[in-house]
Amino acid sequence: MSNVLVINAGSSSLKYQLVDPETGEASAKGLIERVGTDKGHLKHESGDRKDERDVEVPHHSAAVTVMQDAMERGGTPLTPDSVIAVGHRVVHGGRNFTEPTLIDDGVESEIDRVAVLAPLHNPAGLAGIRSARKAFPDLPHVAVFDTAFFSELPAAAATYAIDRDLAREHAIRRYGFHGTSHEYVSQQVSSLLGRDDLKQIVLHLGNGASISAVDSGRAVETSMGLTPLEGLVMGTRSGDLDPGILLHLSRVADLDAQGLDDLLNKKSGIYGLGGHRDFRDLAQAKDDGDEAATLAFDVYVHRLVKYVGAYAAVLGGLDAITFTAGVGENSPTIRAAALEQLGFLGVRLDEQKNSSRDGGARRIDDGAGRVAVLVVPTNEEWAIARHAAEVAVR
Ligand code: AMP
Repeated sequence: MSNVLVINAGSSSLKYQLVDPETGEASAKGLIERVGTDKGHLKHESGDRKDERDVEVPHHSAAVTVMQDAMERGGTPLTPDSVIAVGHRVVHGGRNFTEPTLIDDGVESEIDRVAVLAPLHNPAGLAGIRSARKAFPDLPHVAVFDTAFFSELPAAAATYAIDRDLAREHAIRRYGFHGTSHEYVSQQVSSLLGRDDLKQIVLHLGNGASISAVDSGRAVETSMGLTPLEGLVMGTRSGDLDPGILLHLSRVADLDAQGLDDLLNKKSGIYGLGGHRDFRDLAQAKDDGDEAATLAFDVYVHRLVKYVGAYAAVLGGLDAITFTAGVGENSPTIRAAALEQLGFLGVRLDEQKNSSRDGGARRIDDGAGRVAVLVVPTNEEWAIARHAAEVAVR
């Protein structure tokens, strides 16, 4: 068997899957939480063998050892015979990484250099890479960047209207995130509809949320920017706001950079407005008549509708709108609320298909409108495995 080990290292977690790059089938997967402490927790599955226990994981290297051990116990040992490559999710690729890249010491240093643009994410990704390269020195390791799919955004979409010299000096531009998901989902839509020349909008609505406009397979717009804070309303992140608010709050509310960072990343979004970060809880509170939750819901939907309208204009037409990720895949309510306002674009929802519990990729429009509407479960692990396998055999 030629599987790819996919590793997604967060600041306090290690998520992994052993994936067949041809079929996407995961023969084993797991999550180690509270990495950096001696009170870590492992949840592992190798097929129907489950393994859940507390583990000591003071650093990412220890987490990699725990993963190796869990794989061994589950009957899916990580050996050079069974694994052809290790694929690493890396959040920020900066300007230089525009495609999946075979990792060597130079690539490691460059990911480290870019960390200034993603101080919460890249150091963790790098810790995962360093630990895994030590544990599996004979395997090719491939970095797959969340920003890569958006590296060719047209300059007019990628450029912020600020002093150009300062922007150049500090590499300030719109990079975009969730690229692996937007690329995977838009490709799935092209194959489902049997066309490569589609004008499509992809809504990745999870804890983080982003939207992209894709024209004939090429990303032409996306809502996240220099950081994953811009754009849509998210679980705890604000998305777009008037930058003047930051200046004002720094003067009147005694908030420094760290205070503003906390406010915008952790205390905003539907949580800041409605008191719930999970959409299921927000929807329940709204149904119970909670006014704050209702406003949070409405602000969330309004922002979505505004972006879809703008992106249809950027694309100069629209063939398909697709929902993906936790909220996009599982909330018929959000899909219906957003699409209800998009009839003028030729969007017509089939309510029964929208409410169906079918978990697969599917169309949910009634077939009589101009725009196909789809739900496509994202599968970033499979996308990373495919990229890693491709780079590894080059
Ligand atoms: P993700 O970041 O893609 O894993 O998405 C996680 C988010 O999806 C959760 O925080 C929930 O808000 C949302 N979610 C998951 N299941 C449902 C559901 N059945 N209905 C609405 N939202 C859901």
